[in-house]
Amino acid sequence: MNKKFDFLDAEIAQLKAENRFIHLHELQSAQSPVAVIDGKKVVNLTSNNYLNLTTHPKVKQAAIEAIEKYGIGTAAVRTIIGTMTMHEELERRLAAFKGAEAAILTQSGFTANTATCQCLMTSPEDVLISDELNHASIIDGGRLAKAKKKVYRHSDMAHLKEILESDEVKNARRKLLVTDGVFSMDGDICHLPDIVELCDKHGVITMIDDAHASGVLGEHGHGTVEYFHMQGKVDIQIGTLSKAFAAVGGYVAGPQKLRDYMVSTARPFLFSSSQPPSVIATCLAGLDVIENEPERLQKLWDNTHYFKTALQQAGFDTGHSQTPVTPVMVGDSAQAQELSRRLFDEGVFALAIVFPTVPRGKERLRTIVTAGHTREDLEFAAAKFAKVGKEMGLIK
Ligand SMILES: *Cc1c(COP(=O)(O)O)cnc(C)c1O
Repeated sequence: MNKKFDFLDAEIAQLKAENRFIHLHELQSAQSPVAVIDGKKVVNLTSNNYLNLTTHPKVKQAAIEAIEKYGIGTAAVRTIIGTMTMHEELERRLAAFKGAEAAILTQSGFTANTATCQCLMTSPEDVLISDELNHASIIDGGRLAKAKKKVYRHSDMAHLKEILESDEVKNARRKLLVTDGVFSMDGDICHLPDIVELCDKHGVITMIDDAHASGVLGEHGHGTVEYFHMQGKVDIQIGTLSKAFAAVGGYVAGPQKLRDYMVSTARPFLFSSSQPPSVIATCLAGLDVIENEPERLQKLWDNTHYFKTALQQAGFDTGHSQTPVTPVMVGDSAQAQELSRRLFDEGVFALAIVFPTVPRGKERLRTIVTAGHTREDLEFAAAKFAKVGKEMGLIK
Protein backbone atom coordinates (compact mmCIF):
# COMPACT_ATOMS: atom_id res chain seq x y z
CA MET A 1 0.00 0.00 0.00
CA ASN A 2 1.34 3.37 -0.97
CA LYS A 3 1.10 5.52 2.17
CA LYS A 4 2.08 8.70 0.36
CA PHE A 5 -1.48 9.19 -0.83
CA ASP A 6 -3.27 8.69 2.48
CA PHE A 7 -4.05 12.40 2.55
CA LEU A 8 -6.48 11.79 -0.31
CA ASP A 9 -8.76 9.71 1.96
CA ALA A 10 -9.90 12.84 3.74
CA GLU A 11 -10.17 14.76 0.46
CA ILE A 12 -12.35 12.05 -1.09
CA ALA A 13 -14.52 11.83 2.03
CA GLN A 14 -15.01 15.58 1.74
CA LEU A 15 -16.00 15.30 -1.92
CA LYS A 16 -18.52 12.60 -1.02
CA ALA A 17 -19.95 14.73 1.80
CA GLU A 18 -20.33 17.62 -0.66
CA ASN A 19 -21.97 15.50 -3.36
CA ARG A 20 -19.01 16.14 -5.65
CA PHE A 21 -17.59 12.64 -5.91
CA ILE A 22 -18.10 11.41 -9.45
CA HIS A 23 -18.90 7.88 -10.56
CA LEU A 24 -18.30 7.46 -14.27
CA HIS A 25 -21.04 6.07 -16.47
CA GLU A 26 -19.89 3.71 -19.17
CA LEU A 27 -20.97 4.08 -22.76
CA GLN A 28 -20.91 0.63 -24.30
CA SER A 29 -22.06 1.57 -27.80
CA ALA A 30 -21.37 4.47 -30.13
CA GLN A 31 -22.47 7.87 -28.87
CA SER A 32 -25.94 7.69 -30.39
CA PRO A 33 -29.52 8.84 -29.71
CA VAL A 34 -30.33 5.38 -28.36
CA ALA A 35 -27.23 4.03 -26.66
CA VAL A 36 -26.08 1.29 -24.32
CA ILE A 37 -25.08 2.89 -21.03
CA ASP A 38 -24.05 0.89 -17.95
CA GLY A 39 -25.38 -2.27 -19.52
CA LYS A 40 -28.78 -0.91 -20.50
CA LYS A 41 -30.23 0.32 -23.78
CA VAL A 42 -31.61 3.82 -23.17
CA VAL A 43 -32.82 6.93 -24.96
CA ASN A 44 -29.74 9.11 -24.50
CA LEU A 45 -30.53 12.72 -23.58
CA THR A 46 -27.09 13.57 -22.30
CA SER A 47 -24.55 14.04 -25.10
CA ASN A 48 -23.55 17.14 -27.08
CA ASN A 49 -23.95 15.20 -30.33
CA TYR A 50 -26.34 17.88 -31.62
CA LEU A 51 -26.25 16.96 -35.31
CA ASN A 52 -25.66 13.25 -34.74
CA LEU A 53 -22.35 13.37 -36.59
CA THR A 54 -20.65 10.75 -34.38
CA THR A 55 -21.76 7.96 -36.70
CA HIS A 56 -22.35 9.80 -40.00
CA PRO A 57 -21.08 7.46 -42.78
CA LYS A 58 -19.31 10.25 -44.72
CA VAL A 59 -17.60 11.56 -41.62
CA LYS A 60 -16.44 8.09 -40.58
CA GLN A 61 -15.22 7.41 -44.12
CA ALA A 62 -13.21 10.65 -44.13
CA ALA A 63 -11.42 9.58 -40.94
CA ILE A 64 -10.65 6.12 -42.34
CA GLU A 65 -9.28 7.55 -45.59
CA ALA A 66 -7.13 10.06 -43.70
CA ILE A 67 -5.60 7.26 -41.62
CA GLU A 68 -4.89 5.22 -44.76
CA LYS A 69 -3.23 8.17 -46.47
CA TYR A 70 -1.55 10.09 -43.63
CA GLY A 71 -1.27 7.64 -40.74
CA ILE A 72 -2.54 7.99 -37.21
CA GLY A 73 -0.82 11.07 -35.87
CA THR A 74 1.50 14.01 -36.47
CA ALA A 75 3.96 13.20 -33.68
CA ALA A 76 4.85 16.88 -33.47
CA VAL A 77 3.54 20.21 -32.30
CA ARG A 78 2.17 22.55 -34.93
CA THR A 79 5.20 24.86 -34.84
CA ILE A 80 7.76 22.07 -35.33
CA ILE A 81 6.40 19.81 -38.08
CA GLY A 82 2.86 19.04 -36.91
CA THR A 83 1.10 21.24 -39.47
CA MET A 84 -0.29 19.22 -42.34
CA THR A 85 -1.92 20.87 -45.33
CA MET A 86 -5.26 19.76 -43.93
CA HIS A 87 -4.72 21.66 -40.64
CA GLU A 88 -4.36 24.86 -42.64
CA GLU A 89 -7.35 23.98 -44.80
CA LEU A 90 -9.52 23.37 -41.73
CA GLU A 91 -8.45 26.71 -40.27
CA ARG A 92 -9.47 28.49 -43.47
CA ARG A 93 -12.80 26.68 -43.57
CA LEU A 94 -13.53 27.43 -39.91
CA ALA A 95 -12.70 31.11 -40.44
CA ALA A 96 -15.20 31.19 -43.31
CA PHE A 97 -17.76 29.30 -41.18
CA LYS A 98 -17.44 32.01 -38.55
CA GLY A 99 -17.21 34.92 -40.98
CA ALA A 100 -13.76 35.80 -39.61
CA GLU A 101 -10.49 36.69 -41.36
CA ALA A 102 -8.60 33.76 -39.89
CA ALA A 103 -8.72 30.94 -37.38
CA ILE A 104 -6.23 28.96 -35.33
CA LEU A 105 -6.83 25.39 -34.14
CA THR A 106 -6.18 24.19 -30.62
CA GLN A 107 -6.45 20.72 -29.09
CA SER A 108 -9.74 21.53 -27.37
CA GLY A 109 -12.27 24.25 -26.75
CA PHE A 110 -10.81 24.37 -23.26
CA THR A 111 -7.35 25.30 -24.48
CA ALA A 112 -8.78 27.72 -27.06
CA ASN A 113 -10.10 29.76 -24.14
CA THR A 114 -7.08 29.48 -21.89
CA ALA A 115 -4.67 30.25 -24.75
CA THR A 116 -6.54 33.33 -25.91
CA CYS A 117 -6.97 34.83 -22.45
CA GLN A 118 -3.33 34.15 -21.62
CA CYS A 119 -2.02 35.57 -24.91
CA LEU A 120 -3.97 38.81 -24.83
CA MET A 121 -4.04 39.65 -21.14
CA THR A 122 -0.42 39.94 -20.12
CA SER A 123 -0.28 42.67 -17.49
CA PRO A 124 -2.03 43.68 -14.25
CA GLU A 125 -2.93 46.85 -16.14
CA ASP A 126 -5.22 44.77 -18.34
CA VAL A 127 -8.76 43.81 -17.39
CA LEU A 128 -10.73 40.69 -18.24
CA ILE A 129 -14.51 41.00 -17.88
CA SER A 130 -16.50 37.80 -17.53
CA ASP A 131 -20.10 36.60 -17.01
CA GLU A 132 -20.43 34.80 -13.67
CA LEU A 133 -21.78 31.66 -15.39
CA ASN A 134 -18.98 31.38 -17.95
CA HIS A 135 -17.39 27.98 -18.57
CA ALA A 136 -14.58 26.68 -16.34
CA SER A 137 -12.07 27.08 -19.19
CA ILE A 138 -12.72 30.82 -19.27
CA ILE A 139 -12.24 30.96 -15.52
CA ASP A 140 -8.94 29.10 -15.89
CA GLY A 141 -8.02 31.41 -18.78
CA GLY A 142 -8.52 34.25 -16.33
CA ARG A 143 -6.19 32.52 -13.88
CA LEU A 144 -3.46 32.24 -16.52
CA ALA A 145 -3.99 35.83 -17.62
CA LYS A 146 -2.09 38.49 -15.71
CA ALA A 147 -5.08 40.84 -15.96
CA LYS A 148 -7.42 42.01 -13.23
CA LYS A 149 -10.73 40.14 -13.33
CA LYS A 150 -14.18 41.71 -13.22
CA VAL A 151 -17.18 39.38 -13.04
CA TYR A 152 -20.70 40.59 -13.81
CA ARG A 153 -23.92 38.96 -12.64
CA HIS A 154 -25.29 36.53 -15.22
CA SER A 155 -26.47 38.43 -18.32
CA ASP A 156 -27.06 41.52 -16.13
CA MET A 157 -26.44 44.36 -18.58
CA ALA A 158 -26.89 47.07 -15.96
CA HIS A 159 -24.14 45.46 -13.89
CA LEU A 160 -21.92 45.12 -16.97
CA LYS A 161 -22.46 48.79 -17.79
CA GLU A 162 -21.50 49.76 -14.25
CA ILE A 163 -18.29 47.74 -14.51
CA LEU A 164 -17.42 49.20 -17.92
CA GLU A 165 -17.92 52.71 -16.58
CA SER A 166 -15.72 52.14 -13.52
CA ASP A 167 -12.36 53.94 -13.41
CA GLU A 168 -10.56 50.62 -13.16
CA VAL A 169 -11.87 49.54 -16.54
CA LYS A 170 -11.67 53.00 -18.09
CA ASN A 171 -8.00 53.32 -17.19
CA ALA A 172 -7.04 49.77 -18.11
CA ARG A 173 -4.47 49.12 -20.84
CA ARG A 174 -6.20 46.25 -22.69
CA LYS A 175 -9.82 45.24 -22.13
CA LEU A 176 -11.39 41.92 -23.01
CA LEU A 177 -14.95 40.75 -22.38
CA VAL A 178 -15.65 37.02 -22.55
CA THR A 179 -19.06 35.38 -22.56
CA ASP A 180 -20.51 32.00 -23.39
CA GLY A 181 -22.81 32.22 -26.43
CA VAL A 182 -25.14 29.56 -25.04
CA PHE A 183 -24.84 28.88 -21.31
CA SER A 184 -24.30 25.19 -20.82
CA MET A 185 -26.43 24.54 -17.72
CA ASP A 186 -29.50 26.65 -18.51
CA GLY A 187 -29.48 26.74 -22.30
CA ASP A 188 -30.06 30.50 -22.43
CA ILE A 189 -28.36 32.75 -25.00
CA CYS A 190 -26.15 35.71 -24.05
CA HIS A 191 -27.47 39.22 -24.75
CA LEU A 192 -25.04 39.72 -27.59
CA PRO A 193 -26.42 42.92 -29.18
CA ASP A 194 -26.31 44.77 -25.84
CA ILE A 195 -22.89 43.34 -24.97
CA VAL A 196 -21.38 44.42 -28.30
CA GLU A 197 -22.91 47.88 -28.12
CA LEU A 198 -21.60 48.46 -24.59
CA CYS A 199 -18.16 47.04 -25.35
CA ASP A 200 -17.71 48.97 -28.58
CA LYS A 201 -18.60 52.15 -26.76
CA HIS A 202 -15.88 51.49 -24.20
CA GLY A 203 -13.21 50.09 -26.52
CA VAL A 204 -13.49 46.56 -25.12
CA ILE A 205 -12.58 43.52 -27.25
CA THR A 206 -15.50 41.05 -27.42
CA MET A 207 -14.92 37.31 -27.25
CA ILE A 208 -17.75 34.79 -27.44
CA ASP A 209 -17.40 31.12 -26.58
CA ASP A 210 -19.76 29.32 -28.93
CA ALA A 211 -19.15 25.74 -27.76
CA HIS A 212 -22.87 24.96 -27.48
CA ALA A 213 -23.90 27.26 -30.35
CA SER A 214 -21.69 26.25 -33.29
CA GLY A 215 -23.63 23.87 -35.52
CA VAL A 216 -26.72 24.72 -33.48
CA LEU A 217 -27.69 28.40 -33.61
CA GLY A 218 -28.39 30.61 -36.62
CA GLU A 219 -29.92 29.86 -40.00
CA HIS A 220 -26.91 27.84 -41.14
CA GLY A 221 -25.70 26.75 -37.72
CA HIS A 222 -22.80 29.21 -37.70
CA GLY A 223 -23.49 30.20 -34.10
CA THR A 224 -24.65 33.03 -31.88
CA VAL A 225 -23.31 35.77 -34.16
CA GLU A 226 -25.40 34.47 -37.06
CA TYR A 227 -28.42 34.01 -34.76
CA PHE A 228 -28.34 37.74 -33.96
CA HIS A 229 -27.37 38.74 -37.55
CA MET A 230 -24.24 40.38 -36.18
CA GLN A 231 -21.67 39.07 -38.66
CA GLY A 232 -18.46 41.08 -38.48
CA LYS A 233 -19.37 42.71 -35.16
CA VAL A 234 -17.79 40.32 -32.66
CA ASP A 235 -14.01 40.43 -32.38
CA ILE A 236 -13.17 36.85 -31.35
CA GLN A 237 -15.24 33.67 -31.66
CA ILE A 238 -14.20 30.50 -29.85
CA GLY A 239 -15.50 27.19 -31.07
CA THR A 240 -15.17 23.56 -30.16
CA LEU A 241 -14.92 20.59 -32.49
CA SER A 242 -16.04 18.28 -29.69
CA LYS A 243 -19.75 19.01 -29.51
CA ALA A 244 -21.79 19.41 -32.74
CA PHE A 245 -18.68 18.39 -34.72
CA ALA A 246 -18.44 15.25 -32.57
CA ALA A 247 -14.63 15.00 -32.90
CA VAL A 248 -12.20 16.79 -30.61
CA GLY A 249 -10.47 20.16 -30.75
CA GLY A 250 -11.11 23.86 -30.55
CA TYR A 251 -10.45 27.01 -32.51
CA VAL A 252 -10.16 30.74 -32.21
CA ALA A 253 -11.63 32.76 -35.09
CA GLY A 254 -10.82 36.44 -35.43
CA PRO A 255 -8.51 38.92 -37.14
CA GLN A 256 -5.52 37.61 -39.15
CA LYS A 257 -3.23 39.51 -36.78
CA LEU A 258 -4.59 37.59 -33.83
CA ARG A 259 -3.89 34.28 -35.56
CA ASP A 260 -0.38 35.39 -36.54
CA TYR A 261 0.34 36.43 -32.96
CA MET A 262 -1.09 33.26 -31.44
CA VAL A 263 0.90 31.00 -33.79
CA SER A 264 4.02 32.42 -32.15
CA THR A 265 2.80 32.76 -28.57
CA ALA A 266 -0.17 30.51 -27.67
CA ARG A 267 1.29 27.96 -25.29
CA PRO A 268 -0.98 25.00 -26.14
CA PHE A 269 -0.14 25.62 -29.80
CA LEU A 270 3.59 25.80 -29.15
CA PHE A 271 3.95 23.06 -26.56
CA SER A 272 1.27 20.43 -27.19
CA SER A 273 0.99 18.26 -30.28
CA SER A 274 -1.47 18.83 -33.10
CA GLN A 275 -4.58 16.78 -33.82
CA PRO A 276 -4.19 13.58 -35.82
CA PRO A 277 -5.18 13.61 -39.50
CA SER A 278 -8.29 11.48 -38.83
CA VAL A 279 -9.66 14.15 -36.50
CA ILE A 280 -8.97 16.98 -38.94
CA ALA A 281 -10.53 15.02 -41.81
CA THR A 282 -13.56 14.34 -39.61
CA CYS A 283 -14.03 18.06 -39.00
CA LEU A 284 -13.65 18.94 -42.69
CA ALA A 285 -16.26 16.30 -43.54
CA GLY A 286 -18.45 17.62 -40.71
CA LEU A 287 -18.36 21.09 -42.25
CA ASP A 288 -19.48 19.57 -45.57
CA VAL A 289 -22.34 17.78 -43.88
CA ILE A 290 -23.47 20.94 -42.07
CA GLU A 291 -23.44 22.76 -45.41
CA ASN A 292 -25.03 20.03 -47.53
CA GLU A 293 -27.56 18.55 -45.11
CA PRO A 294 -29.41 21.53 -43.60
CA GLU A 295 -32.25 19.16 -42.73
CA ARG A 296 -30.16 18.04 -39.73
CA LEU A 297 -30.29 21.49 -38.19
CA GLN A 298 -34.01 21.68 -38.93
CA LYS A 299 -34.55 18.31 -37.26
CA LEU A 300 -32.52 19.38 -34.21
CA TRP A 301 -34.82 22.36 -33.72
CA ASP A 302 -38.03 20.43 -34.47
CA ASN A 303 -36.97 17.90 -31.85
CA THR A 304 -36.05 20.67 -29.42
CA HIS A 305 -39.47 22.33 -29.72
CA TYR A 306 -41.30 19.03 -29.53
CA PHE A 307 -39.48 17.79 -26.43
CA LYS A 308 -39.53 21.11 -24.57
CA THR A 309 -43.26 21.47 -25.21
CA ALA A 310 -43.94 17.89 -24.11
CA LEU A 311 -42.07 18.45 -20.83
CA GLN A 312 -43.87 21.73 -20.22
CA GLN A 313 -47.27 20.22 -20.98
CA ALA A 314 -46.53 17.48 -18.47
CA GLY A 315 -46.08 20.27 -15.92
CA PHE A 316 -42.28 20.47 -15.66
CA ASP A 317 -40.40 23.73 -15.26
CA THR A 318 -37.79 23.93 -18.04
CA GLY A 319 -36.25 27.17 -16.82
CA HIS A 320 -35.42 29.84 -19.39
CA SER A 321 -33.78 27.65 -22.02
CA GLN A 322 -33.84 28.91 -25.62
CA THR A 323 -31.83 26.07 -27.12
CA PRO A 324 -31.62 22.24 -27.26
CA VAL A 325 -30.04 22.34 -23.76
CA THR A 326 -33.18 21.93 -21.66
CA PRO A 327 -33.06 21.73 -17.88
CA VAL A 328 -35.83 19.99 -15.99
CA MET A 329 -35.87 21.86 -12.71
CA VAL A 330 -36.25 19.76 -9.55
CA GLY A 331 -34.87 21.99 -6.80
CA ASP A 332 -33.39 19.33 -4.55
CA SER A 333 -30.24 17.21 -4.90
CA ALA A 334 -31.67 13.94 -3.60
CA GLN A 335 -34.81 14.23 -5.70
CA ALA A 336 -32.88 15.16 -8.85
CA GLN A 337 -30.69 12.10 -8.35
CA GLU A 338 -33.71 9.89 -7.70
CA LEU A 339 -35.49 11.17 -10.82
CA SER A 340 -32.40 10.39 -12.88
CA ARG A 341 -32.09 6.90 -11.38
CA ARG A 342 -35.75 6.03 -11.90
CA LEU A 343 -35.73 7.33 -15.48
CA PHE A 344 -32.71 5.14 -16.15
CA ASP A 345 -34.65 2.10 -14.88
CA GLU A 346 -37.41 3.08 -17.32
CA GLY A 347 -34.95 3.36 -20.23
CA VAL A 348 -34.11 7.08 -20.34
CA PHE A 349 -30.69 8.56 -19.59
CA ALA A 350 -30.66 12.14 -18.28
CA LEU A 351 -28.02 13.24 -15.82
CA ALA A 352 -28.76 15.04 -12.55
CA ILE A 353 -26.89 18.30 -12.04
CA VAL A 354 -26.75 19.15 -8.37
CA PHE A 355 -25.13 21.57 -5.93
CA PRO A 356 -22.37 22.80 -6.13
CA THR A 357 -22.40 22.62 -9.98
CA VAL A 358 -25.64 24.64 -9.79
CA PRO A 359 -26.83 26.71 -6.80
CA ARG A 360 -28.96 25.08 -4.09
CA GLY A 361 -32.62 25.13 -5.09
CA LYS A 362 -31.64 24.97 -8.78
CA GLU A 363 -30.86 21.25 -8.89
CA ARG A 364 -32.08 19.71 -12.10
CA LEU A 365 -31.82 17.10 -14.79
CA ARG A 366 -30.16 18.45 -17.91
CA THR A 367 -31.43 17.12 -21.22
CA ILE A 368 -30.07 17.64 -24.71
CA VAL A 369 -31.92 16.30 -27.74
CA THR A 370 -30.12 15.71 -31.02
CA ALA A 371 -31.03 15.63 -34.70
CA GLY A 372 -30.78 11.84 -34.49
CA HIS A 373 -33.65 11.27 -32.06
CA THR A 374 -36.82 9.98 -33.69
CA ARG A 375 -40.23 11.27 -32.68
CA GLU A 376 -40.82 7.86 -31.04
CA ASP A 377 -37.63 8.22 -28.93
CA LEU A 378 -38.79 11.60 -27.66
CA GLU A 379 -42.42 10.53 -27.10
CA PHE A 380 -41.08 7.61 -25.09
CA ALA A 381 -38.75 9.84 -23.06
CA ALA A 382 -41.41 12.49 -22.40
CA ALA A 383 -43.90 9.81 -21.30
CA LYS A 384 -41.35 8.37 -18.88
CA PHE A 385 -40.60 11.83 -17.47
CA ALA A 386 -44.34 12.35 -16.91
CA LYS A 387 -44.78 8.90 -15.33
CA VAL A 388 -41.84 9.15 -12.91
CA GLY A 389 -42.50 12.85 -12.23
CA LYS A 390 -46.05 11.98 -11.10
CA GLU A 391 -44.92 9.00 -9.04
CA MET A 392 -42.47 11.23 -7.23
CA GLY A 393 -44.99 14.04 -6.78
CA LEU A 394 -42.89 16.51 -8.78
CA ILE A 395 -45.80 17.24 -11.13
CA LYS A 396 -49.54 16.71 -10.79
C1 LIG B 1 -17.65 22.19 -23.60
C2 LIG B 1 -17.23 23.60 -23.47
C3 LIG B 1 -15.91 23.97 -23.62
C4 LIG B 1 -14.81 22.95 -23.78
O1 LIG B 1 -14.77 22.42 -25.04
P1 LIG B 1 -13.88 21.11 -25.30
O2 LIG B 1 -13.66 21.12 -26.75
O3 LIG B 1 -14.69 19.95 -24.81
O4 LIG B 1 -12.63 21.29 -24.53
C5 LIG B 1 -15.59 25.31 -23.58
N1 LIG B 1 -16.54 26.25 -23.39
C6 LIG B 1 -17.83 25.93 -23.22
C7 LIG B 1 -18.84 27.01 -23.02
C8 LIG B 1 -18.23 24.59 -23.25
O5 LIG B 1 -19.51 24.28 -23.06
